[in-house]
Amino acid sequence: MKTNFFRSHVFCMSFLLSLFVFFQAKAGQASEQPALVLDSGGVKVYAIEDSPGSMDISLFRGPASPEQRSAYFKDGKVPSSINVFLIKKEDRCSLIDTGFGVFGPGHSALMERLADIGLTPDKIDAVLLTHMHMDHIGGLLKDGKRLFPNAGIYVAKAELDYWLSRAAREPGNPNARLAQSVAETYGRDIAPPFTPGTEIQPGVTALDAAGHTPGHTVFHIRAGDKELLIVGDLLHAAALQFPLPEECPSYDMDVPAAIKSRKRILDMAAEKGIPVAGMHIPFAGAGTVNKAGAGYAFTPMR
Ligand SMILES: [Zn+2]
Repeated sequence: MKTNFFRSHVFCMSFLLSLFVFFQAKAGQASEQPALVLDSGGVKVYAIEDSPGSMDISLFRGPASPEQRSAYFKDGKVPSSINVFLIKKEDRCSLIDTGFGVFGPGHSALMERLADIGLTPDKIDAVLLTHMHMDHIGGLLKDGKRLFPNAGIYVAKAELDYWLSRAAREPGNPNARLAQSVAETYGRDIAPPFTPGTEIQPGVTALDAAGHTPGHTVFHIRAGDKELLIVGDLLHAAALQFPLPEECPSYDMDVPAAIKSRKRILDMAAEKGIPVAGMHIPFAGAGTVNKAGAGYAFTPMR
């Protein structure tokens, strides 16, 4: 009991500290206007910046020497963002992740950015989750109520099972508690949890990318003759992790699995020429990937 109490408080402190580290460089900076990152076959995918930010060098571990790692950082930081993506097909609107909402230390701009596209929260039919960390599910709730009244929630079985069992074991864990609140508040609108390989909606398929979290998911979108991989938290510091894909932030829960998933998905993107879009790749978070040396080169779309 004592050990659990201690562990959960260490987790709280380290989690809150890392959020502070994540945001400190860009506090107060406004997010950018939504950007169209795919437009094909009647499907539009928008990148929405919930919040700008930067990643601190102290969060990363891996085979690189401190000197090698620091070459990618300026004053100990690299640009990052908290992005969410919107899939719009005719009248049907699906969000992929929701940002921090009211649970982060910075301003969450998701609702304002949705309004820029002419959308109110009731127009969102589905929310697909790459995973259930606070900066991805926070935007689902406010004051204990759901923010998307008509949305079904789609999450991997391994992910939901993990956070609900952790909430039972560690009721003081803030991330587990939030995941549990989401499950309880959305109730019957939590769709039957999916397994990797499932086509969640026409043209949108869940791919296993476990490692960052137990059920971390990449979504493959096929629209007309175009494809896009929404890669979630496969990368946190694009400038560092594309060239050195074995570098991991402290947020990666299973480091060997996270590295394996990162390389497998980026290999796929490079070999098949499929653009990637990530939740923490600097806004607009999307671009193309090529193999370069032992890692990858990323070319942003804009
Ligand atoms: Zn994240």
